[in-house]
Amino acid sequence: MARFGILTSGGDAPGMNAAIRAAVRTATSDGHEIIAYRNGYTGLVEQRWTELDERTVSNIIQLGGTIIGTSRSKAFMEASVRARCGDHLKEMGIEGLIVIGGDGSFRGALALQDEVGVKVVGVPGTIDNDVFGTDETIGFDTAVNTAVEAIDRVRDTGESTGMIFYVEVMGRSSGAIALHAGVAGGAAAVLAPETPTDVDDLVGRLKRSIERGKRSHIIIVSEGDEAGGAFAVADRVGEKLDHEYRVVILGHTQRGGAPTARDRLVAAFCGSRAVEALAEGRSGIMVGMQDGQVAETPLARVVAEAHSRPETDLLALARRLSR
Ligand code: ADP
Repeated sequence: MARFGILTSGGDAPGMNAAIRAAVRTATSDGHEIIAYRNGYTGLVEQRWTELDERTVSNIIQLGGTIIGTSRSKAFMEASVRARCGDHLKEMGIEGLIVIGGDGSFRGALALQDEVGVKVVGVPGTIDNDVFGTDETIGFDTAVNTAVEAIDRVRDTGESTGMIFYVEVMGRSSGAIALHAGVAGGAAAVLAPETPTDVDDLVGRLKRSIERGKRSHIIIVSEGDEAGGAFAVADRVGEKLDHEYRVVILGHTQRGGAPTARDRLVAAFCGSRAVEALAEGRSGIMVGMQDGQVAETPLARVVAEAHSRPETDLLALARRLSR
């Protein structure tokens, strides 16, 4: 019987609760204990924790956000603060820590492992799908579905009025949400941070398709696109194309809401395996999904590899289908 810690860190993502539930139920069914730290690394620094048992994680599988809170902790960036966290974890008898978050959170986990010797396992929880070593991150599928639902609604007005709509989705350095929601939502164009945006080309394509009688034009813009966000792109196109338009910023609506079945499944697989890995003595790994299977990748590799893979095939498909 062992005692493990768990925390959620960085941006919240739908499905984090399902991952917590899976970890707790796996641990308790094998006779282990789970201590949850409140608000990410902040709770570790401030020693704010609570024990989770199989009943405290009842009825959370369908909830967005994270019941144990999350944060970005400046204090935890200091080695001296992490050393105190290490002392605390030892006093608490915690043999391993599960960190649910993105690659920043994993850097913190690795630092903790290397500096204070605690075992750590990462679980990818972020809507951005920008983590190396997993095909999907927990929260991505929900965020894409939320964006598609919004695009469908906007399309009704676009089709009725003929206005161009610029829909800005989340993704500071990753175009994953834009590309997936763009193809699934039938966008006229998708502007992603990984690829250069040619405003003249966009104007030409819009002109040609308006001439061909197309009425609804939905342009999906990643917030991190180098041409600027949706307002900037709309302004630049507007200088060369006299056509009425509206800008819609989806913002934080993409982060919340009940997780999709897919996100709950990924959370169940990864949350459960994270406990098994710690119980079997493994450390310094991330548990993710590869080709439909649970897969473990060294955290050092996860944080070292370029985390944003441009999905060029999806970009080409988006372009081919937007006519
Ligand atoms: P995400 O995990 O979603 O990428 P952040 O990059 O904001 O989110 O990281 C979350 C937290 O992880 C930070 O607020 C900080 O406390 C911790 N962290 C990030 N990078 C490091 C690092 N290099 N060393 C120690 N802790 C880190």
